[in-house]
Amino acid sequence: MISFHDLRIDNDQEKMSILKCIETVFDHGQFILGPEVTEFEKTVAKYIGKKYAIGVGSGTDALFFALKSLDIGQGDEVITTALSWIATANAIKITGATPVFADINNDLNIDPDSIERLISPNTKAILPVHFTGKICNMDKISQISEKYHIPIIEDACQAFGATYRGKKAGSFGKISCFSMNPMKIFAACGDAGCIVTDDIECYNQIQALRYNGTVNKETCLYSSLNGRIDTIQAAILLHRINQLENIIEKRRRIASYYQSALNKFVKTPHEMPWEKDIYYTYTIQTKERDKLKNYLEKRGVETKIQHPILMPLQPPYLQCKRDIKKAQTIVKDILCLPANEKIIQKEQDMIIKSVYDFFSDTYE
Ligand SMILES: *Cc1c(COP(=O)(O)O)cnc(C)c1O
Repeated sequence: MISFHDLRIDNDQEKMSILKCIETVFDHGQFILGPEVTEFEKTVAKYIGKKYAIGVGSGTDALFFALKSLDIGQGDEVITTALSWIATANAIKITGATPVFADINNDLNIDPDSIERLISPNTKAILPVHFTGKICNMDKISQISEKYHIPIIEDACQAFGATYRGKKAGSFGKISCFSMNPMKIFAACGDAGCIVTDDIECYNQIQALRYNGTVNKETCLYSSLNGRIDTIQAAILLHRINQLENIIEKRRRIASYYQSALNKFVKTPHEMPWEKDIYYTYTIQTKERDKLKNYLEKRGVETKIQHPILMPLQPPYLQCKRDIKKAQTIVKDILCLPANEKIIQKEQDMIIKSVYDFFSDTYE
């Protein structure tokens, strides 16, 4: 069986390095907002090219605090994509605001024209998601943001390390959000997240928001939650950021190998010359999706559909404004193949052969 994820830390050297990170935190005892958190924040800010970074408990926390720091709430609308992990819509909804769902293009990212169609006097933010680790069309989205004076909050949870015209995911928005949960490519050993911004006011507000809206641990300025990052996770992330480029390169090589072998049979992810995707998922599109998924399962290849239900079709969001015609067609065709950096050559070849056999058996 080729499994979709393999999150085990089975390399002894890597295991020892991570245990050492944890031991350092045991020794100083500052489990919350310890020195590794400050170091992690500095490192991420520099990597993205933003002035400030704030470590938080998860990507969901990051989105919620980012929205709150722009005073988004009751009566406001936030335009986002139809296709994402549900955390994106939930973060908007729990501020009291309403998500408005835009359509997607064939690259699975939000369609800028659809954003423009959905803008209303109540629109307070545009929240694009760099789905699958591919950055959205930020040229057009930035133009729309400027034209209507509506800030961008990037959901870059799947795209840490991706670039677009040489700029990193998270460097486009007024505020940008990352998740470092164990499934993500830049991953902690538990839940973790981060927010970046150049805006000092947002920065100060988010510092308070991540700890019950308090300043100096006493005065409460805003109603909020506890969403701080653990020092242990920050310490592990500081170690792991050194391996990130290597992991991204491995994933990109696998993607390019799949692309040349599979594009005759299915629609494969496509990169523009100015894009560098990180392939959080390797998502193909085919009209034979369900049959192919079953066939691969029988051949011992685990696949996933991320995500089979569009956010606007989930029960809490059925009443929200939407423009999702293309998304409704595309969502039936998407399938994620195992493409993480631990998939060895032999397994890649077996996956390719299985797809090849499926289409040969079906059509010859
Ligand atoms: C993972 C993810 C989130 C949420 O991150 P968590 O750390 O799991 O809370 C939000 N948006 C997208 C697009 C994600 O992939």
